[in-house]
Amino acid sequence: MAYTKKEYKDLINRMNRKMKIPNGWYKFVKKVAENQNFIVKSKGICTCKNCNTEFKSNKKVNEYEKCPNCKNTYLIKRNTYGLHYIKDVVILLDKFEGKWVIRLFEIFTEYTRTRIYHSKAVEYGRIYLGKEELHFANNRVASFMGNTYINHKQDGKEWRLYNNIYYGCGGWNDDGIIYPNNIEELCKNTKFKYSQLWTIAKENKYMHIKELLKKKYASTEMLAKMKLYKLATQAWKFNKKGSFKKRFGVDKGFCDFMVENNIDLEELEILRRYKKKDIEEIRFLKEFSESQLDEIEKYMTLEKFANYAKNKKNFDIDLYLDYINFLKELNIDLNNKRNLFPDNLEQKHSEYVEQISIKNNAKLCKDINKRYNQLEKNSYSNNNFFIIPAKSILELEDESKQQNHCVRTYAEKYAKGKCDIYFMRKNEKPNKSLVTIEVKDGKIAQSRLKNNAIPNDTQKKFLQKWEKEVLKVA
Ligand SMILES: [Zn+2]
Repeated sequence: MAYTKKEYKDLINRMNRKMKIPNGWYKFVKKVAENQNFIVKSKGICTCKNCNTEFKSNKKVNEYEKCPNCKNTYLIKRNTYGLHYIKDVVILLDKFEGKWVIRLFEIFTEYTRTRIYHSKAVEYGRIYLGKEELHFANNRVASFMGNTYINHKQDGKEWRLYNNIYYGCGGWNDDGIIYPNNIEELCKNTKFKYSQLWTIAKENKYMHIKELLKKKYASTEMLAKMKLYKLATQAWKFNKKGSFKKRFGVDKGFCDFMVENNIDLEELEILRRYKKKDIEEIRFLKEFSESQLDEIEKYMTLEKFANYAKNKKNFDIDLYLDYINFLKELNIDLNNKRNLFPDNLEQKHSEYVEQISIKNNAKLCKDINKRYNQLEKNSYSNNNFFIIPAKSILELEDESKQQNHCVRTYAEKYAKGKCDIYFMRKNEKPNKSLVTIEVKDGKIAQSRLKNNAIPNDTQKKFLQKWEKEVLKVA
């Protein structure tokens, strides 16, 4: 049962004639515009760009702060800001010929260093929940390079279907700030008369109004009455009969905790697996995806993870999961807390990246062995010392560990023949590192002891002799 073109033209014309804007709307929209603002911080002093009040604050740039004068909460920005553009969608609900209409408006504020411009809220779209769901756009809607934007300079008088054919896009979504004050009146004498949708709208800036209007769910009213206002915005997910546990996926013992913190769906999902009444940790954990947390739970409890990660500055979970995989690959003990919860994650991570890339490279191992066979003829000794070429990656790693330097990174250069690496040691302690030697073009390029110290005279003499008698001859 599709509408004909004429039918929907008539429909939109009738809407244009009959639908009204409620009185409270303008005050509401003004408040939305007022919230399109920020606080500037310079030399420890904050200035509210809404009311120009100056005040002191310990909050940093990119944190939110409440202005002591206008009492609005804004994001703090640096005073070197350039052009700023803040826009919101505002939603006005209406009923027309017994059907719901979701009216979409856009409002923006533009800041430059010298000027503030607040736009009017202009209507650009409508979602009509009739026998079919119809989406309309007016001539303010423009498409450019696959993106849709609203041209505030247009009059908005011409309407057409907002669909794939004309716009290459499936329709509007209802992500917007909803005007709450006319909803109770609109619900009167309808099946939504007990729905509490108006209460939910007052308690939430955003709600999924379209979904909640398409069908009446008993859970909408129930959640609002329980004061679980955030869960109520997705009430259809809880429209199950039976026990508390069946409905929410957690024991009834968590009910008070859930209400007290007005938890949202993401928090509930964490609570289902975390099962601990600690809202701070739940809110920390909800920043991560389900699959990330699944991965984490293979190695530790979420509680231990939260304890470790929440105090880390700029904690990066991808880096951490990477790191755990390195531990596995390198056969490092995962049961050891010092390995599982490193103090300096970034540093440990990059250390292991290097080790793994070397270890994984089978070709590198083979090449190094080849180099050893080529250079073995340059081995040298006297009564006191001997010199041998590096035989394997393991030997290189061992040397760098003992010497506290980075010969490990030379492995690749060594394998490719760009340099030669030798170890000079004492005859009586053949396994103990003494001098690490880099040779290039038949000459000693570098010789280093532990902590990059330089060889003493006896050691130097032996090295010079070797260079002269073996390297230069070779
Ligand atoms: Zn203010």
